[in-house]
Amino acid sequence: TMVGCVLDTLRLSREQLLEVKRRFSEEMTRGLSKQTHKQASIKMLPTYVRSTPDGSEHGDFLALDLGGSSFRVLLVRVRSGTKRSVDMQQKIYSIPQEIMQGTGEELFNHIVDCIADFLEYMGMKGASLPLGFTFSFPCDQTKLDEYRILLYNLTIYQTMIYIFCFPVLTVLDDEFDLNFVAVVNDTVGTMMTCGYEDPKCEVGLIVGTGTNACYMEEMHNIELVEGDNGRMCVNVEWGAFGENGELEEFCTEFDHLVDACSNYPGKQRYEKMISGMYLGEIVRNVLLDFTAKGLLFRGKVSERLKTRGIFETKFLSQIESDRLAMRQVRSILQHLGLTGSTCDDSVLVKEVCSVVARRAAQLSGAGLAAVVDKIRQNRNLNQLSITVGVDGTLYKTHPHFSAIMQETLRDLAPQCEVTFLKSEDGSGKGAALITAVACRVKNEGQQ
Ligand code: BGC
Ligand code: MG
Repeated sequence: TMVGCVLDTLRLSREQLLEVKRRFSEEMTRGLSKQTHKQASIKMLPTYVRSTPDGSEHGDFLALDLGGSSFRVLLVRVRSGTKRSVDMQQKIYSIPQEIMQGTGEELFNHIVDCIADFLEYMGMKGASLPLGFTFSFPCDQTKLDEYRILLYNLTIYQTMIYIFCFPVLTVLDDEFDLNFVAVVNDTVGTMMTCGYEDPKCEVGLIVGTGTNACYMEEMHNIELVEGDNGRMCVNVEWGAFGENGELEEFCTEFDHLVDACSNYPGKQRYEKMISGMYLGEIVRNVLLDFTAKGLLFRGKVSERLKTRGIFETKFLSQIESDRLAMRQVRSILQHLGLTGSTCDDSVLVKEVCSVVARRAAQLSGAGLAAVVDKIRQNRNLNQLSITVGVDGTLYKTHPHFSAIMQETLRDLAPQCEVTFLKSEDGSGKGAALITAVACRVKNEGQQ
């Protein structure tokens, strides 16, 4: 049938998934090597995080979690020994529009004011605490530049807070042109948060609005950073996979449409096939196609269906929920403004959602298989047992995503036994734990 043919283009065979894994591995190696780093689609960014938590970390830490239009300041108390725990207190501050659009310096001043306010509120005025940062929005080059200036300013602003722990910040000093270096990525926060619960957690994964992963790599493989001893967490920035055409033969016309209409055509190709922000758009484009062919919605293309972004992640998750009767799928469609759907329409819409989500889960499983197999090979192991810390709404709320991803992973990396641990507040807690671990490592070094 016509429907069947179209949906088949969105289905990947085991061979194709193995090929994705193979190309992904190759690109990771290219990203790590000095010679090929610039051309590689996957950037494999060094994070300067040298260790996951071992439980002996302790002290009070400040964390800053910068989001799109607001940020949080957190006070995180980390205790070791028998009272081992992480307690957090926080306050949310908004970033007024005019400051958002203002200079990096204005933003910086605003943030410093808020930190001062927070410390006063906590009765800790004038305290000098180590501070960690996270950023929880997808990468935007211009924003990153601003934040890079912000971070830079923070390092020289030492009268109120003692900034510590990020060797990254000193790197920033003389290597201002290095891309993305100062960003403490949300994947790293996730890995560190889960690493506090489970020492085997050496991978962080996010599948939400955006998608990405990080893992502990051997220093001798990280050619961009001097030194061969021990390990460092690498931010894979895996969403960019495919920017050199590696995914071309697996893409459909719908992927091309979604890419062409996105803010950054040609960029983040892998992410555009996986993350919540784009899956809904792929689904919508398939539905548009089916409707235009007269196979859906009585052949009437509504204005609503032509509207970008109407299928949010939560609808994808709802529509695929097993407990849902078709009647309820129909009411979700109605709620979306897609009126006039028949019962057959509901069945087909659900099928489209399911095919698109399955492909996304399988693709992320293929990338993850490459990551854990690399760790296994790094350590010359026949069998690796490892934990992946995960966060992100798609992973957490979708009824089938995680199971399909794990099934793919088992199939493509049979020598790795992988446990998944969901993270809670990886950005706030994670920033503090990164700081706590860096303090611990520094103290160990001084002994
Ligand atoms: C960004 C990553 C981030 C991921 C998950 C992506 O769009 O490029 O840096 O880790 O989203 O939030
Ligand atoms: Mg090295």
